Amino acid sequence: MVLFSQFLVIYLLFLSTVWCQVTEFVSIDCGGTSNYSDPSSGLAWISDMGMMNYGKSVQVENPNGDRMQYRKRRDFPIDSKKYCYTLSTKERRRYIARATFQYGSLGTEDTYPKFQLYLDATQWSTVTVLDGSRAYVKEMIIRAPSNSIDVCICCATTGSPFISTLELRPLNLSMYATDFEDSFFLKVAARVNFGASSKDDIRYPDDPYDRIWESDLDKRQNFLVGEAPGTVRINTSKNVDIRTREYPPVKVMQTAVVGTEGVLSYRLNLEDFPANARAYAYFAEIQDLGANETRKFKLQQPYMPDYSNAVVNIAENANGSYTLYEPSYMNVTLNFVLSFSFVKTRDSTQGPLLNAIEINKYQKVAAKTEWQDVTVLEAFRSMSNGSGWPNDAGDPCIPAYWEWVTCSSSTPPRITKIALSGKNVLGEIPSEINYMEALTELWLDGNFLTGPLPDMSNLINLKIVHLENNNLNGSLPSYLGSLSNLQELHIENNSFSGQIPRALLTGKIIFEYENNPELHKGEQRKMRFKLILGSSIGVLAILLVLFLGSLYLLHNYRRKISNQKNKERGDSLRTSTKPSTAYSIARGGQFMDEGVAYYIPLSELEEATNYFSKEIGKGSFGSVYYGKMKDGKEVAVKIMADSSSHRAKQFVTEVALLSRIHHRNLVPLIGYCEEEHQRILVYEYMHNGTLRDRIPGSVNQKPLEWLARLQIAQDAAKGLEYLHTGCNPGIIHRDVKTSNILLDVNMRAKVSDFGLSRQAEEDLTHISSVARGTVGYLDPEYYAKQQLTEKSDVYSFGVVLLELISGRKPVSVEDFGAELNIVHWVGLFACFARSLIRKGDVISIVDPILIGNVKIESIWRIAEVALQCVEQQGCSRPRMQEIVLAIQDAIKIEKGSDQKLSAGSSKAQSSRKTLLTSFLEIESPDLSNGCLAPSARYFQQILDSKRGCLEAVADPVLVNMEKLQSRMQEISLAIQDAIKI
Ligand code: ATP
Repeated sequence: MVLFSQFLVIYLLFLSTVWCQVTEFVSIDCGGTSNYSDPSSGLAWISDMGMMNYGKSVQVENPNGDRMQYRKRRDFPIDSKKYCYTLSTKERRRYIARATFQYGSLGTEDTYPKFQLYLDATQWSTVTVLDGSRAYVKEMIIRAPSNSIDVCICCATTGSPFISTLELRPLNLSMYATDFEDSFFLKVAARVNFGASSKDDIRYPDDPYDRIWESDLDKRQNFLVGEAPGTVRINTSKNVDIRTREYPPVKVMQTAVVGTEGVLSYRLNLEDFPANARAYAYFAEIQDLGANETRKFKLQQPYMPDYSNAVVNIAENANGSYTLYEPSYMNVTLNFVLSFSFVKTRDSTQGPLLNAIEINKYQKVAAKTEWQDVTVLEAFRSMSNGSGWPNDAGDPCIPAYWEWVTCSSSTPPRITKIALSGKNVLGEIPSEINYMEALTELWLDGNFLTGPLPDMSNLINLKIVHLENNNLNGSLPSYLGSLSNLQELHIENNSFSGQIPRALLTGKIIFEYENNPELHKGEQRKMRFKLILGSSIGVLAILLVLFLGSLYLLHNYRRKISNQKNKERGDSLRTSTKPSTAYSIARGGQFMDEGVAYYIPLSELEEATNYFSKEIGKGSFGSVYYGKMKDGKEVAVKIMADSSSHRAKQFVTEVALLSRIHHRNLVPLIGYCEEEHQRILVYEYMHNGTLRDRIPGSVNQKPLEWLARLQIAQDAAKGLEYLHTGCNPGIIHRDVKTSNILLDVNMRAKVSDFGLSRQAEEDLTHISSVARGTVGYLDPEYYAKQQLTEKSDVYSFGVVLLELISGRKPVSVEDFGAELNIVHWVGLFACFARSLIRKGDVISIVDPILIGNVKIESIWRIAEVALQCVEQQGCSRPRMQEIVLAIQDAIKIEKGSDQKLSAGSSKAQSSRKTLLTSFLEIESPDLSNGCLAPSARYFQQILDSKRGCLEAVADPVLVNMEKLQSRMQEISLAIQDAIKI
């Protein structure tokens, strides 16, 4: 009775899981005109009419079979556009996505269609119809990268592209999990049911996940040929236990083929191969073998001896008959023609047996268009005034461009042109446009745009800008004159006001600005001003003005002489910095070269800083003071304390480097001064200080939230990525740390302090004698070998990431004792973090302030990449570009799902468990006590790992091991006390 009720509970649980599964199925009948329930499966099908605005529903001539979803299809126009369906998904859940194509017999057309199928930006398949009566099935197993996916059809080479059905089937548990699922989808190449009782596929309801198991009796071309003589089909009606990882349907396991002459062999063609694949074989002993009978066999692959060693003994491997055994190769290279044989071993009494196989090709996930560009396009779409142009779906660039954009061929693609002339666009130009660095053409003329021009100073590639015939207002920002590639600027018929930046009037660019009544050249305004002045004051006042004017001229003459002297001094330095940009900005009535920091006389700096009265910081360079220039610009003024020759060189290096580099994530250098043995650098003032001050462990600042930390990390990573790859030659920062990451008024991060920078190229041939950098962040490889590469910055940035996760300083006497050598300390920190992470305990290193407010998977993503960054060998560390992508991943995760990391959250635990067991495939932590408070065993593990790390990385000559050992002893005793309590 007890057994029966247990069975009933399990059966009911299974039924409820399957039922939840089914209610989440998405089944779209493309071209269908009504919703209905399929009588053969009971599944609900919906028409695509509400979700697809393009193409037309077409009656299929002579559909094969009686499935309702193949009676109609949707045909799309033959053009260069793409047609996309957007399907909702749960981010990071695994799904089977399936598209099918049954054309029916040719009507008036000459040829069957051939076209492309895409899933997001990834090329899924070329659909080539050769037989109109066959339903071509394309299946992809994915872990949803976001909360929706796009299935797109495009690029027909013959006929008109079409689709019959679109299906989405969610999967459970760790089914189809692979180590590579962030970067690869699994394309189904073969899923075969051997010994099938008919030619029909097996799918839902026999398979609760609605996989399609093709019958081995389906005798299409090059599919399961070369069958060995003596192959017989067997079946059973007994239940088969399928509770392994992939849950194949019982019905598939109840049939098999057996090689009665000792061999089972087959050959089949795999579409789009050779490629790397995941291959599964399903074996279940479904014959009742006698006591002395055995069934043992080996896989024989003529060209792959490596795969031929293992002996299969099904009943033994599966622990009994009527139980599934599913061996797999998780990453194997297969050819287009797959030939395989199973051969009986000498000591076996029975021939080989096979129930089913599944082969999935690893399909590289292609990068979608840069999300920052897409954000701007979405903003423009939301500004459309009921026009049809925003209906484009899918990725803006892949596989075909949206009609109103042009893209680069880079990875990821970037938007290079926006063409929205006369498209009824209403509102203000989105401020995020400033992130579209690859933009070369902007056509927004003839719309209803209002408000001022947003900051577009980052768009250094802009060549052509059309803003005419709108209602834009405000002044013309001076950066417009500094966009070095700008060729045409059209702003006619708007309401711009104020003075035109002089650089726009040099004749170098085509600048059209008629019909902006309030806009004027500088001289005109002076004239108007004089007129008003003249008519409003009397003769005496004019005399007074003349008197004051002459005084002013005299003063100016003196000042000009003094400036000339300063300028001559500055020129020598400027010559040595070899400015690479030619554009200019107006400052104080004079034109100065921008791109080269300008010379600021000491007297001006004294005035700006009120004689250096407000010190805001101190670094190895010297003191830093707050200042406000005459034009109101707030500045940070760094005075070089030591004027030795090394420092002098550093000064010149810094000016030379910084004056060439402009990026929104690098602190801009405004000017410099070299006077009376003083060397001074003037930077833009960063209102929110350093990142170090914003994470716990320092001054009384409000600690940053996790998402803010991620965004800062992203900014800083982009700044470094620009130094490494955006500059030519690349630049290594050499002193990456949280106190060199500054936060502006909007909490955007900028990397500062290039005092230690050197051009990468220089250092490839040059081996410096002293390792430079900061304790705790220094790359051990650089320290040991004195060879500098970008990977040293990557190492230091890894330490920054660990600091962001843990909130701890990289050098902490309290934690590990003062005697550790810095290099070992970081090694220790990394080793310790790594061992905890491997044990599944990210919480132990997470900043306690974050607990309860963070999504665990985003922490994992950062922890993972941080540990790669602090690998001992530079070559094992990622590039900054990859780090940026990882941080963007973490941001997406953090913004996406709801699972928060909290000390008692079971959700967090299950998420952690999934992540650990299915993604990292490492030892699971002890979760048995139901909460995250570490168990005694677990504490001990932490302790052991700490000790292990110490022993692994600590150099006994440099480390006072005795002291450390006794400290470990103390900790150990304290923990044991805690456990007893
Ligand atoms: P080191 O020179 O050893 O690398 P550091 O990076 O902290 O150390 P500095 O770059 O000289 O040294 O900066 C010292 C302090 O001055 C910083 O910690 C910060 O508080 C402040 N500071 C520096 N630059 C700026 C700036 N542009 N805006 C605001 N504050 C700044």
